[in-house]
Amino acid sequence: MSSTGPETTNSAPASSAPATANSAVAATATVITNIANLVTNDPSLGDSSPLGLIQDAAVVIDGDRIAWVGESSKAPATDNRVDAAGRAVIPGFVDSHSHLVFAGDRTAEFSARMSGQPYAAGGIRTTVAATRAATDEALEANVVRYLREALHQGTTVFETKSGYGLTVEDEARALRIAARHTDETTFLGAHVVSPDYADDPAGYVELVTGPMLDACAPHARWIDVFCERGAFDGDQARAILTAGRARGLHPRVHANQLSHGPGVQLAVELDAASADHCTHLTDADVDALAHSRTVATLLPGAEFSTRAEWPDARRLLDAGATVALSTDCNPGSSFTSAMPFCVALAVRDMGMTPDEALWSATAGGARALRRTDVGRLTPGARADLALLDAPSHVHLAYRPGVPLVSAVWQRGERVR
Ligand SMILES: [Zn+2]
Repeated sequence: MSSTGPETTNSAPASSAPATANSAVAATATVITNIANLVTNDPSLGDSSPLGLIQDAAVVIDGDRIAWVGESSKAPATDNRVDAAGRAVIPGFVDSHSHLVFAGDRTAEFSARMSGQPYAAGGIRTTVAATRAATDEALEANVVRYLREALHQGTTVFETKSGYGLTVEDEARALRIAARHTDETTFLGAHVVSPDYADDPAGYVELVTGPMLDACAPHARWIDVFCERGAFDGDQARAILTAGRARGLHPRVHANQLSHGPGVQLAVELDAASADHCTHLTDADVDALAHSRTVATLLPGAEFSTRAEWPDARRLLDAGATVALSTDCNPGSSFTSAMPFCVALAVRDMGMTPDEALWSATAGGARALRRTDVGRLTPGARADLALLDAPSHVHLAYRPGVPLVSAVWQRGERVR
């Protein structure tokens, strides 16, 4: 899986140099020692695998950055010491796809679906009505609640989208709220055609590419489209993504989730950072992804929660595509914030090895957000890490459903 190795464009040092780094580490730093297995995601370290696994390891956190990694016996002296007691440390999960700005509940829809009714994209409109009716305070409280939930499970970077407002004011409001909690905000006015434009989808595309984009662009980094039957076709999606790009937003695409379609090819054509879902792919789609910078982001929570066919991660990896794993956390089709759960599903049902799934949930997510400062534990990286109550990362899949994340650092602060 050489193609899924870490970014090579890091400005930070590529590897630790214990003999010289010691003097550079401030005494006020924190060292975590006695780590049975440390995942660095730097293949130049440790066992030289894509995970750059170091056994009997230590990590030094200085301010908001990783200052040193290496063998525990060579760790520099610092004032603060944490004994990992033979447990594993991994980079914080990078959840590159979620929909957290919403109100309301779709328990009844889930229950009906589990009783045999198929999922259709129109269920989004239920959440749109509830979200429009909610106060800013209620929406923000919901975002904070699910962020805390994710952080508790080891997610230290997350992307989140608008898409449950579908008016100029409601979409801009969602992004304003999201931007208070993450830099990775995505304008998804093109989630479904607004019910207000049910008879005039072309008019809705004009709204999304015009006044709505104007109002949302200042609060967003990315633009996204649900390119799917029942949502937006290839021509509409291209118009929307191109308009967003002209306003400085970079594309990502909900592509090929429910059926074959033009989404993946469009994502590659526009150099989208990510094509998300990728459940129904032709050989040409797989080939296009493998020969592009566009990451295939797989969202197994959605297939789990809709009893749908699993995306074939093995096929993508064998072709050389870069794969990310993400939750798709949303109240309709994947109401989970748990990256460990997604790792377990990817291993059990999508053909990924435990190592590949861990890489995709950390470094892969960083790739899908075109970030080089997160998703790895090497000197210079952001100090985002999770301590597992297990001797190795393999336990995330080996012990599914067990809450193994026992401590979390985000930007060098212990938040759990
Ligand atoms: Zn989604």
